[in-house]
Amino acid sequence: MKNIIICGAPGSGKGTQSKLLIDKYKLMHLSTGDMLRKEIAENTALGKVAKTYIDKGHLIPDELMINIIENILENLDKENVKGILLDGFPRTLAQAEAFEKMMDKHNEETDLLVGLQVDEDELINRLLLRGKESGRSDDNIDTIKERLEVYKNQTKPISQFYDKKGKLVKVDGTGNIEDIFERISKAIDKKK
Ligand code: AMP
Repeated sequence: MKNIIICGAPGSGKGTQSKLLIDKYKLMHLSTGDMLRKEIAENTALGKVAKTYIDKGHLIPDELMINIIENILENLDKENVKGILLDGFPRTLAQAEAFEKMMDKHNEETDLLVGLQVDEDELINRLLLRGKESGRSDDNIDTIKERLEVYKNQTKPISQFYDKKGKLVKVDGTGNIEDIFERISKAIDKKK
């Protein structure tokens, strides 16, 4: 299997690029943000818990997220899944460490972490625009600022974690969508 993590600050284009990448590389899209938003829309017990964190711009506790991913890996149909594109997970060092242990257990490995690079002013503009267009409840200025802080303090360190394993590729996440997609595709193809 080919397993890729796409990582970047909120608004860096992870979701947009993921949709293109899963098509091209026939990967299973695993977006924890989408999963949680679906739980919230369906008003499930998990959704109710998740909402209290998401609305504040905070992360859902590691243990909860790790259990969700572990469950998915346990039930993976390996015959038919060519690889996973992880979008939004791992998001903390504890999640990354737990994820690598799980992957080992399943005789799988992370091939690459694509780190999308976008500067903060552009991230804020993109997120405010998305908030207007999609009405995502966490795309308002206060929550955006909190999410950017959380990203810097808790998520960014996972880049170093994968860099030490020789698996980090930084990709310029600015410009038009097709150009960014081409940059990411090149990075993935180079790893093959
Ligand atoms: P995203 O759509 O990836 O930006 O995620 C939206 C929100 O969902 C985040 O701000 C977090 O509150 C929550 N979330 C998504 N993935 C994770 C994760 N791996 N760990 C903790 N919280 C997460």
